[in-house]
Amino acid sequence: KFIEDYQRLRQNNGGEKKRVVIFGGGLSGLACAKYLSDAGHEPILFEARAMLGGKVAAWQDEDGDYIETGLHIFFGAYPNIHNLLQELGIGDRLNWAPHRMTFAMQELPGQFTTFDFPPDIPAPFNMAAAILRNTQMLTLEEKIKMVPALLPMLLEGQSFIDAQDEKSVLQFMSEYSMPTRINEEIFIAMGKALDFIDPDKLSMTVVLTAMNRFINEADGSQTAFLDGNPPERLCQPIKEWVERKGGTVVCSSPVLEILLDEEDNTVKCLKLANGSTVTADYYVSAVPVDVLKRLIPTKWSTIPYFRQLDELVGIPVINIQLWFDRKLNSIDGLCFSRSPLLSVYADMSNNCEEYADEKRSMLELVFAPCSPEAGASVNWIAKTDAEIVDATMKELERLFPTEVGPHTSIERRANLVKSTVVRVPHSVYAATPGRNKFRPSQVSPIDNFVMAGDYASQKYLGSMEGAVLSGKLAAEVICDKTMGRSNRYGLREVHSSVQGAVLKERSP
Ligand code: FAD
Repeated sequence: KFIEDYQRLRQNNGGEKKRVVIFGGGLSGLACAKYLSDAGHEPILFEARAMLGGKVAAWQDEDGDYIETGLHIFFGAYPNIHNLLQELGIGDRLNWAPHRMTFAMQELPGQFTTFDFPPDIPAPFNMAAAILRNTQMLTLEEKIKMVPALLPMLLEGQSFIDAQDEKSVLQFMSEYSMPTRINEEIFIAMGKALDFIDPDKLSMTVVLTAMNRFINEADGSQTAFLDGNPPERLCQPIKEWVERKGGTVVCSSPVLEILLDEEDNTVKCLKLANGSTVTADYYVSAVPVDVLKRLIPTKWSTIPYFRQLDELVGIPVINIQLWFDRKLNSIDGLCFSRSPLLSVYADMSNNCEEYADEKRSMLELVFAPCSPEAGASVNWIAKTDAEIVDATMKELERLFPTEVGPHTSIERRANLVKSTVVRVPHSVYAATPGRNKFRPSQVSPIDNFVMAGDYASQKYLGSMEGAVLSGKLAAEVICDKTMGRSNRYGLREVHSSVQGAVLKERSP
């Protein structure tokens, strides 16, 4: 909506077209470029790698099969992504699954249980019905014991959710006397899926944020997969849109340095890997937080706004794809594995048009937690591909006892044909307790520097939706600046702990 308002304002006041350099070609950078070009500005985006997409990037192997950085699920409760797809005219590229959540049964290998959301019941009652109708995971008593903990979220909304950020999931559960089985049955699976970490290390705000988004919309927790590889099916249309409107998107162009104006410490230009420099009216960072920390100029490093980034670190995760010589029959749609090593997985030969195969399955699995800081007992991220695939296959033998592994009959056995392992050492920011307060606003204290990226402050987590929203908010900040308007969110105050630490360093 801000774009329409802005266009109207510009028409009346004759606001100037601005040149904006964005660095980072993931969803946040692309969304920022899209909305800036809609607003009549000239975005120029530099992406370090040869392909766009960042954490949704994918590339082909020698057989032409796509290797993805991550298994990506879209939810009904992703309004900014759905708007973006509609605006680009590609809303039909999401393949929606029936509205249900499927969990592997922990004690019953090879069996699954589902939470089915009835289509004829409005939110939040459809979720209540789905939970009440499933009798295999929680007892009625356990379900009733969840209510006192979840009621404040329903009544108070975001302020209650935000206030829980200092607590881990386990601390929150103990405060509300929630039975530990709720953790074992539900929260472990949620933690691994939402932030690739275990509940003892995860902020309760993450779980409540997801639940709140799911509860408030009838189709909030319904899942969809993109119909093909994300760089072509999702990123390319954004690039084409931006270029049609006069913007530029350049790949294989990492930004090496942010150079400052000597007088006022604003950005003077960016230095690119080919040695050239680029100048603009505004500069937007859309790189991951771990990259930005390395690019922060020394003169900015004592500014609390930038110093708070030290409190945010990307969590490691591994994405695995396994191609089998036949179809696995036990799995349909997205599944929460609830096994020690795996998070969610899906048979993409059934769920993605471009990867469709009637004869053989391609499982895509998220391996998490995969490092000690995320809760794993082994530092899997440092293991070889063979070790990771081997451990995954062992878990699959338990999950699909009639279809995978040496104990199944040769006639029914699905044999592994090939596999890929993609390690992301720093993926989304680790949402450990107390991180929310360090997420930077899109507005920065530097007049011509704006922050985007899924970790920047916005009401979604580190996710595709969060990335798109963050890019859009960054575009809005620039539109506001060009009109001399104050931004509706403004510069977020940096937490006193960071301010105090910086002051202490500065004092003689
Ligand atoms: P990125 O995607 O990290 O983009 C940053 C870009 O900056 C990259 O393209 C990078 O190459 C570029 N860059 C880095 N350095 C430079 C430089 N010096 N100069 C120029 N460019 C640079 N989210 C969901 O909503 N649902 C899911 O199911 C889901 N599953 C996931 C599974 C996995 C395994 C992973 C890793 C992530 C998953 N996510 C999921 C999270 C989601 O992918 C991210 O939150 C989102 O894509 C982040 O977008 P971004 O633009 O903020 O950052």
